[in-house]
Amino acid sequence: MKTAQPPKNCLVCGREITWRKKWERNWAEVKYCGEKCRRSKGTLAENYEAAILELLTRRASTSTVCPSEVLSDAQKRDSETMELVRQAARRLVHAGKIEILQSGRVVDPSEFRGPIRLRLKR
Ligand SMILES: [Zn+2]
Repeated sequence: MKTAQPPKNCLVCGREITWRKKWERNWAEVKYCGEKCRRSKGTLAENYEAAILELLTRRASTSTVCPSEVLSDAQKRDSETMELVRQAARRLVHAGKIEILQSGRVVDPSEFRGPIRLRLKR
């Protein structure tokens, strides 16, 4: 029988989720503090677009960033959240705002596999 687990943070609002008995069977899958955050997950990708652009504009225009830099450490460990950031990056490429690079070369946003860097499009 599982008992209380250490708290973790909601992937949307970042607030702490405190273990409750109703989650004893699926605590590993709990990612949101409640219905409101679960439902707003879809708008996260839009927020990530803004976060990526903000991060890039704070840097020199020639510098690149890793997409995970917009995430907290807890979020970086969640593959679903990482994919939302990549989706945001793809949309920014299609909007003509950024480029996705691997090994210093611009790659097709639909084709890349593995770690990427992002750069403002000049
Ligand atoms: Zn939340």
